Amino acid sequence: MRILIVGAGVIGLSSAYILSRAGHAVTVAERHADVASETSFGNGGQLSYSYVAPLAGPGVVSSLPRWLTRRDSPVRFRPKLSVEQWRWCFEFLSACTREHSELTTRKLLSLSFLSRTLMHELIAAEPTLDFDFARSGKLVVHRDAQAMQSAMNLLEFQRTLGCEQHALSADACVGIEPALAHGRPLLAGGIYTPGEDTADCRRFCKGLEAVLRERGVRFLMNTTVDGLRRSPHGVEAFSGGAALPADHVVLASGAGATRLLKPIGIRAAIYPIKGYSLTFELQAQSTAPHVSITDSGRKVVYARLGERLRVAGIADIGGYSLEPDSVRLATLRSEAAMLFPDVGRSAVRGEWAGLRPATPRGTPIIGPTRYPNLWLNVGHGALGFTLAMGSAALLADGLAGSSGHELRSTFALSH
Ligand SMILES: Cc1cc2nc3c(=O)[nH]c(=O)nc-3n(C[C@H](O)[C@H](O)[C@H](O)COP(=O)(O)OP(=O)(O)OC[C@H]3O[C@@H](n4cnc5c(N)ncnc54)[C@H](O)[C@@H]3O)c2cc1C
Repeated sequence: MRILIVGAGVIGLSSAYILSRAGHAVTVAERHADVASETSFGNGGQLSYSYVAPLAGPGVVSSLPRWLTRRDSPVRFRPKLSVEQWRWCFEFLSACTREHSELTTRKLLSLSFLSRTLMHELIAAEPTLDFDFARSGKLVVHRDAQAMQSAMNLLEFQRTLGCEQHALSADACVGIEPALAHGRPLLAGGIYTPGEDTADCRRFCKGLEAVLRERGVRFLMNTTVDGLRRSPHGVEAFSGGAALPADHVVLASGAGATRLLKPIGIRAAIYPIKGYSLTFELQAQSTAPHVSITDSGRKVVYARLGERLRVAGIADIGGYSLEPDSVRLATLRSEAAMLFPDVGRSAVRGEWAGLRPATPRGTPIIGPTRYPNLWLNVGHGALGFTLAMGSAALLADGLAGSSGHELRSTFALSH
């Protein structure tokens, strides 16, 4: 089949890989000149298969007053005159119950475990891929006893779902990652997950693009899909007034999906949550972590990517602007300096802001639509790199009409 994928981020490219391996003639249309030019460019580099619990959790409502009033808060809400924003927020707050959070965690763990298997298979199958991949393990550190207790409760729940995780004292955290020695007085303890990976998402996308071109996948760069219109087979995508020929269209357009879907009567509850990253150039003598670190209370992640350290975090709910906010970047830098002073003194090679394409419950939308030839692979929020390969496999299963993955219906549009 001729399949047109809209979007050359990590989701579009992973989909292209699995679909081309399944024998389809794949074309990728992307509005930028290069792949991974939007959210897949500078993310946190975490392949955090066991850390998929959604932002919409039972602790959110009680944290809101603190989050909304502190200038350096990791989460910020900028109200807009936008029905889309308010409706999304209402649905998000409705999902902030233990029941919803556990259900979402259960679904996402199944998808992330599948993604890990497929990512490891991909790395074995494509030896030319070089993207600073490391089996780093992950340590999530907590700053107070109450947060540590909640994390241990989650650990017990996730143990029943197959996660291998260990609760550690603050000293044991420093034992696992000596770069935490300076920050030791800030810590109450941590949860260590040995099976987590880190990698550079943009380099992954660039490598995958090369593999795909080699396999004969066509790339239409600098091509904006202006819209979707009804056709005898369902819909067709058009650019500059001309139809882009395809039997099936897959939207993998990240935060840009809702604007393409609305005019054809489909509501996908995706709203952008803006985040930031800094990339530090490490010196040979820098004391910087090798293990992937999450500072849970501050919602900041740290991943070593070769000789660089990626520091990412912050969740701003306030529209589609990609304008970097110097105050938010300074907050991120001071968080890094507090936990890893040597890193704080290192040169910054990149400052970046991106939009997480987030659904209220934190589950992506993967699968068919009411148009028989239109498919979605969107809404991966803070987990697109982690979930990319499994999401692509579910999409491909759907297109093949196969019932191979029992997960397939779990992420369909109505869920
Ligand atoms: C600060 C931050 C840190 C993060 N950290 C992590 C992490 O550590 N681990 C993790 O797993 N995830 C992380 N994420 C989330 C992850 O980066 C995203 O979920 C993922 O990149 C989404 O990929 P995507 O392909 O859906 O979107 P994108 O990468 O945005 O790709 C969509 C593409 O579609 C193109 N497009 C859109 N509309 C059109 C159109 N009309 N015509 C043509 N092209 C179009 C865009 O130009 C874009 O290139 C983070 C995100 C942020 C912001």
